[in-house]
Amino acid sequence: MKKQCLVLVSSLLSTLTLAQSATPVFSPDQFRAHVAFLSDDLLEGRDTGSRGNEIAARYVASQFDSYGLKPGGTNGSWFQQVPLQKSTRGGDGGSITFIGPKGERKFVHADNVMLSTSVREARVDFEAPLVFVGYGIEDKRFGLDDYKGLDVKGAVVVMLRGYPKGLPSEEGAHMGATKGKTAQKHGAIGIITVATRQFERVFPWERVLEYSKDPDYDWLEADGKPHSESPLIRGGGYINKPAAEVAFAGAKRSLEDIRAEADKAKGAPRGFKLPSRVRIQGDNVAEKITSPNVIAILPGNDPVLAGEYVVLSAHLDHLGIKDVPNAAADADRIYNGALDNAAGIATLLEVARAAAAAPDKPRRSMIFLACTGEEKGLVGADYYANFPTVPIEQIVGNVDLDMPLLTYEFTDVVAFGADHSTVAKYVEQAVAPMNIKLSPDPMPEQGIFTRSDHYQFVRKGVPAVFLMTGLANGGEKAWEVFQTQFYHTPKDDMSLPINWKAGAKFAEANYRITRALADSTTPPMWYQGDYFGDVFAPKRPRAKR
Ligand SMILES: [Zn+2]
Repeated sequence: MKKQCLVLVSSLLSTLTLAQSATPVFSPDQFRAHVAFLSDDLLEGRDTGSRGNEIAARYVASQFDSYGLKPGGTNGSWFQQVPLQKSTRGGDGGSITFIGPKGERKFVHADNVMLSTSVREARVDFEAPLVFVGYGIEDKRFGLDDYKGLDVKGAVVVMLRGYPKGLPSEEGAHMGATKGKTAQKHGAIGIITVATRQFERVFPWERVLEYSKDPDYDWLEADGKPHSESPLIRGGGYINKPAAEVAFAGAKRSLEDIRAEADKAKGAPRGFKLPSRVRIQGDNVAEKITSPNVIAILPGNDPVLAGEYVVLSAHLDHLGIKDVPNAAADADRIYNGALDNAAGIATLLEVARAAAAAPDKPRRSMIFLACTGEEKGLVGADYYANFPTVPIEQIVGNVDLDMPLLTYEFTDVVAFGADHSTVAKYVEQAVAPMNIKLSPDPMPEQGIFTRSDHYQFVRKGVPAVFLMTGLANGGEKAWEVFQTQFYHTPKDDMSLPINWKAGAKFAEANYRITRALADSTTPPMWYQGDYFGDVFAPKRPRAKR
């Protein structure tokens, strides 16, 4: 730890002493009761927009109410209704046809291509030239300019998935998420993505196909149109190697040559115009639904700091009822989501209960946010971040809880995003008295920082971390077992060997963390020169590293 941090640490410790003396008791039984209710079969997997999800939302609101919290939703309610469009592939499913020097080749959705068309159009049918644009990234700070010298106006751009090897994973993941905007800025009307060899190994095509029937969910703008970061991109999709080879037929450089270059460190193949054209066809069946975020506020008691908010968030939705790949006809189809994320909500509820009951009130105000639509692409949190129920500038920090693994006695935690802001310093100090360590990100290559609800706060400039139980003390094995056998399956339910004491301990850790953030005189801050701070929060204060 560096010197500057030690200064911060000692001032934090002094503020923590107060909170510690009054740390409430956390009960394993209470924790279990929340998880048991929320992951019951009767809630049918809490799918966004489903009756089971609505019941779960009422449960959370009812708990908030019983703790004496203030409703933090719209019109004095506990809820913020998120208007959504659910879009499903219609007609024959749609297709991508490559028209090359040697003729036409049509690929229908869910064989060698995963088609996607604009959710703003009921029917898409257009033909356009194809231009390969490398990774399709433009980022001055990293010297990436994949569109340099290429004319893509009115074209469908073909790009490699991901980002050049050797780029920091979190920044890389962010660049990956902004490719649509970049393509649109250059005048492209479609995007076709091709896997790198590396990604193909991690995520084979059979896995990709498991998602071929999943609808798209997008929140609705005031004009009733589904929100899109790149509304002028009309269609495209993700294609596998056999389809990509057709797209590259007759090109000046072969697909395999390009993918070999991408496999090397910093390999960033240059773009060029492809000889083929493409026709993209597809129908979209749109359905309008709503699903609530559930929000409670605990007002702070410091005359100055009470106008600032610390947000503790967790997603309430899960995957609902759906077919299980390769399962028997009579197999369990309810995705109960006991750990993903009834356990995160149980933690949130227990922290809310304890914070409301504490004799020493927090200095800043606290917001407890149970989000919808996380499994549909973080849409509930995105809606909240775009339409916050308190001014976003007054939200000083966010801790998100998603799928804490509680099948072992955890002794460390990981805060994804720890390198970017001081939030993790508060985490580290707050849990130290419990003999819990803050460990570094064990899987930086996964870019987890950009993959849960807190990231929607980051995009609005709020320093945030995503907190997980760590790999020490049996955690590594437990995570491996969970990820390979239980994650996003109907087996993530109450039959898992959940350690309820670990649940209570995780709740206490999060109580201490939330209190540390709420009680510290200095708010959490982005580090000077941090990429995410600079991109999203140019006006917010900075901390020295
Ligand atoms: Zn999940």
